[in-house]
Amino acid sequence: MSDEQPTELEPGGPNAVGKMLGLLGDEWTLLLIQQALLGVTRYGQFKAAMPISNAVLTARLNLLTREGLLERNVYQSNPLRAEYLTTPRSRSLWPFMLAIWDWERKWVPGHDLPRMVHTVCEREFAPVLSCASCGKPAAAREIAAEWGPSGNWARSVPEASTRRRWDSEQVSGAAGLFPDTMTILGNRWASALIGAAFRGITRFTDFEKALSAPPTLVADRLRAFVAIDVLAATQNDKRPDWAEYHLTEKGRAFFPVVATALQWSQRWFRSPEGPALLETHTTCGAEFDPQFRCDQCSTVVHRRDVRIV
Ligand SMILES: [Zn+2]
Ligand SMILES: [Zn+2]
Repeated sequence: MSDEQPTELEPGGPNAVGKMLGLLGDEWTLLLIQQALLGVTRYGQFKAAMPISNAVLTARLNLLTREGLLERNVYQSNPLRAEYLTTPRSRSLWPFMLAIWDWERKWVPGHDLPRMVHTVCEREFAPVLSCASCGKPAAAREIAAEWGPSGNWARSVPEASTRRRWDSEQVSGAAGLFPDTMTILGNRWASALIGAAFRGITRFTDFEKALSAPPTLVADRLRAFVAIDVLAATQNDKRPDWAEYHLTEKGRAFFPVVATALQWSQRWFRSPEGPALLETHTTCGAEFDPQFRCDQCSTVVHRRDVRIV
């Protein structure tokens, strides 16, 4: 696999969205990518950065290597020592990580995140999700999304990329990083559910149908989302047993994370039929290509121009 080439997916199989949810909808994977982007390369360093067992760490590093997000480089042969280097595929997750950082900082009080300075203007900044075509800020309500040729719920359902016994629900507290983001993205069903909420789904049965997931699992995820105030449950007067779930302000503010994850998925995974999702910035009418601008100086934010303090 060439470094810059997208993965060609099987016709009729899981599409870019399903592939992305299966890969990124995993707590350990997100933590490993975050650490790798911060410069961690060695097994022992990853191990020291999070409460992860050897079996899980080895499995995740193998998965990320196989999927082209890390490159295993043997730098010493006797004894054998390898390091794990980022690739264009993992480095292009930087906007997604920036979006997570910004959302946690604004909406999840009580945990200290590093501050970031935009070196172009030398100010602490917040990234503003914008449209690459017109340069204007882009809010969730201004983006119209419809399925593309490879898009439907069945093909967007997350693939299991890890074995079930490794699916972990309780590690986020221990890792102490991005607690609410891990509730939303840290397992593949949760991340699919937030996508469904942004596609306008509100009813329990519709979530269940869209995700093809067992009702207990859907109920459990919805409860977790309500508990962190990302979704609000409202009673339906005509059907008292039929609650609806709507994104709160905090939930809607998660949109840049979703938008950058989708952008990444469409960049790196191609179905032969065409894209999974077609997004339009309704304000200008162009196909929506998200980018971040600096809220202080309005220029486009590049990774090389951000300093962590
Ligand atoms: Zn636009
Ligand atoms: Zn700036």
